[in-house]
Amino acid sequence: MKVLVINCGSSSLKYQVLEMEDSSLLAKGLVERIGIEGSVLKHEKPGMDKFVLETPMENHKDAIGHVLAALTDGNHGVLKSMDEIGAVGHRVVHAGEKYASSVLITDAVIAALEECTDLAPLHNPPNLLGIRACQELMPDTPMVGVFDTAFHQTMPAEAYTYAIPYEYYEKYRVRRYGFHGTSHKYVAERAAAMLGKKKEEVSVVTCHLGNGASVAAVKNGVCIDTSMGLTPLEGLVMGTRCGDIDPAIIFYLAEKEGLDMKGVNNVLNKKSGVLGISGVSSDFRDIEEAANGGNKRAALALEVFAHKVKFYIGAYLAELNGADAIVFTAGLGENSISMRESICAEMENLGIKLDREKNKVRGKETVISAEDSKIKLLLIPTNEELMIARDTAEIVAAL
Ligand code: AMP
Repeated sequence: MKVLVINCGSSSLKYQVLEMEDSSLLAKGLVERIGIEGSVLKHEKPGMDKFVLETPMENHKDAIGHVLAALTDGNHGVLKSMDEIGAVGHRVVHAGEKYASSVLITDAVIAALEECTDLAPLHNPPNLLGIRACQELMPDTPMVGVFDTAFHQTMPAEAYTYAIPYEYYEKYRVRRYGFHGTSHKYVAERAAAMLGKKKEEVSVVTCHLGNGASVAAVKNGVCIDTSMGLTPLEGLVMGTRCGDIDPAIIFYLAEKEGLDMKGVNNVLNKKSGVLGISGVSSDFRDIEEAANGGNKRAALALEVFAHKVKFYIGAYLAELNGADAIVFTAGLGENSISMRESICAEMENLGIKLDREKNKVRGKETVISAEDSKIKLLLIPTNEELMIARDTAEIVAAL
């Protein structure tokens, strides 16, 4: 079966087509500036030059129409017709407490996801636009929703309950949900495979370190805690998000800076994190370069980031009562040799020993710990699209 994977943002759309028989990638691409002047589709077929189409795309339906045309084009296409697509897998950010695994999309599922829009106002609406657009263009093709929150639904109440009046959980479902679930699940399963064990036999701490960043504690294949919360703002320091802070800072800043709630929200989501500390950039490559050039705030931003990852690793090792492996994934986790070194420094007494030579590697599935490290350190490139495609194919095959 061939599966089309769609990941819609507010003005962008990423897609991949995968052949599930051998999990191979047939084509992938990106549409940017949907509904804005300068809309562009960039389509890639392995072994061919990138195809770029600059044409107005008013909405997500327009964009998906152009994606389908590119996929079936005689030259750079990979399908004879759209009928070859057996199913579409949609990435959806927030499924609240509704879904603990991927599901076939029905009207009832769409209604449930609409109810979660309050919890993810920036993400769920474009995700839903993508689903509706595909349904209009491919009315007979089954669609599956794969949720960032689903993998974390196994967390016990003591991990997801906030110590605020319980009625807010009952009335508004205010609790920890966690995100990047598809990535944490994928790398936890790969880690078990690399250790030569079943996923039910291993405990791992998975560190998804990208522009958005989160850590998860996975016990016997099941998530028991994660660092992001009601929204992706909590937890680690991120590119522009503050992560964990004293909530009193919100009121203090509002008063001192004369900001309303929207203003503080903007500061904490868009102007904080390593950008806020360094004043240089939200991109770790720029910050590493500045730090290497002697910029003290850039160096501090990297130290604060590494400190927080170490903090969560320690916490989750305690929660898991020890672990078989710690996994590094996503843009920074897969590529930054120096950041992995900083995070893993001075944890030998916990049984964590990085091999500095083996660590000199980027974007490759490999072991980076020393032979005598009790806890294995693994570098595993994430592949959320493959995970989405697998869930989609499995659900559709069972129909
Ligand atoms: P992601 O959100 O997973 O795409 O990750 C994006 C982040 O990974 C950005 O902050 C990048 O700067 C960072 N990143 C990607 N490649 C490297 C690299 N070679 N060294 C350091 N950071 C990197």
